[in-house]
Amino acid sequence: MWLARLCRYGPLVLAFLLLALAVRSLAPSGTLGVADEAVANARRHLEVIAREPHPSGSQANASVRTYLRGQLAALDLDVDVDTWSRGALELTNLAVRFPGTDATGALLVLAHYDSVSRGPGAADDGSGCVAILELARALSDAPPLRQDVILLLTDGEEQGLYGAFRFRDAHPWMQDVRAVINLEAMGGAGPLVCFQMSRDNADLVGAWADAPQPVGSSFAEVVYSLMPNDSDLSVFLGEVPGMNFALVGGCSVYHQPYDVPGKVEDRALRHEIATLTSCVRTLASGEWREDAPSRNWFVWPFLGTLEWSESPPEWGVLSILGLLLVLDAPGARGRRVLAILRGILTAALTAVAVALPAFAIGFGFLFTRSGLKGPTSYGEVHAMLALQGAWALALAVGVGAWSGRSPRRAGLVLEASLGALLVASLAGVYYHVQGLGLRGSDGLPLRAAVTAAAVAFVLAQRTKGSLRWLVLVPLVYVALTFAPFVSILPQIGSQLEWLAAAMGAALFACFTLLVSPLLVEHAAGDPAGGDAPRPVEDAAPAD
Ligand SMILES: [Zn+2]
Repeated sequence: MWLARLCRYGPLVLAFLLLALAVRSLAPSGTLGVADEAVANARRHLEVIAREPHPSGSQANASVRTYLRGQLAALDLDVDVDTWSRGALELTNLAVRFPGTDATGALLVLAHYDSVSRGPGAADDGSGCVAILELARALSDAPPLRQDVILLLTDGEEQGLYGAFRFRDAHPWMQDVRAVINLEAMGGAGPLVCFQMSRDNADLVGAWADAPQPVGSSFAEVVYSLMPNDSDLSVFLGEVPGMNFALVGGCSVYHQPYDVPGKVEDRALRHEIATLTSCVRTLASGEWREDAPSRNWFVWPFLGTLEWSESPPEWGVLSILGLLLVLDAPGARGRRVLAILRGILTAALTAVAVALPAFAIGFGFLFTRSGLKGPTSYGEVHAMLALQGAWALALAVGVGAWSGRSPRRAGLVLEASLGALLVASLAGVYYHVQGLGLRGSDGLPLRAAVTAAAVAFVLAQRTKGSLRWLVLVPLVYVALTFAPFVSILPQIGSQLEWLAAAMGAALFACFTLLVSPLLVEHAAGDPAGGDAPRPVEDAAPAD
């Protein structure tokens, strides 16, 4: 009996464990090829830059500028100082240029050195500025690259991207720029996430994928496009290819008085310096292409980066296959439309029933840890997700045990699961038809995960005993694809912890719905049961 239980619950428990490990593995670790000294330097700069709020036009802003200029000059660099005024406001950009050995253009790297007036801006965008200072040191110490590299520290970003507009419209170096890298931040924790690229991005994606432990997915563009935020990169999009990076962990500090150096993690700075240095070396060592193709990108835990071109139509087969599998599943065949609708409704109710307690758990944890306004660290978000995941797993196993007691209950769970899978598969098919040619919003790995869930579902219904372990194969794919979303989405989602908790809850609701059919006994999915009323057999144990 215990062996049967093991075969029934084992794959699900292992899939959850794998999900937890995968989420953990997405947090960059090790030295990433960055010397401890570079991280220590960056921190020293940060302590000076983010001592107090330094909005454009303030005395504190001028002090920060003097410090940055001094640091660049100390590297024997010629600092280009561009001062202009906008109404009563006087603004100043700082720039340096590293000539290449055989340059046909320049790579522009920028961050803004002004802060909001409410907070000292250690993460936003002190972290970007100190990464650029460390890049300047690394470039000064090494032999020149093939292409020119321009480092730009802009002013007036928070008031309206003024510094970026000024450089684009008035600086003579702009005509040489062939690609742009922008560094932003919402928080000071977690990895440096690549969250936006221009369309002609094949070379950018390639360079970024070569960086140590890259983190991000083109799906992040969808989330970013829903947010009210803007950045300096917006100014350059449409003119030259560009990519946007940000630290997003611990984003409750965004534009707050407590965006202080202590909230910027050393390992976040390390990942930022590593990613930036690597991308600059790769891009400035190559050639510029006029019309590079558009690519999507996705980073799997343990497996690395996948790149693919715009929604290739042949991949639509995956979505259709998933839909067919669901429609042909043992529990679905022969069912009437009414039963399918009932399944979809039950699935929606189940999702709410899973998500509400998960939300309460996540919010309760964050509230007891940091209160309503306190900052959230990367570790806290992970701990919250672990709690929500444990709840989802316990719930899935509980539902399995509950449904195993009678065919009628099992039928209900099957209906709900089929409803969820059906909606997800239909969304995948619809999305593929509708999304053709939309590069940034291509969620191919996610749609493949829905198909994998359908495969797991069918396998679970058609196998018994130790053969049941076969479901682990598609489940591994589901867990690995979910992990980046579990890891990144709650942090990108908002500066507010309760929204992070809600998004975590929604993710685990999806996951539980997709995997819970695995726990339903084979016999319960007998299509002969169909829509007919079933006898209630509460007393019959499953195994
Ligand atoms: Zn910013």
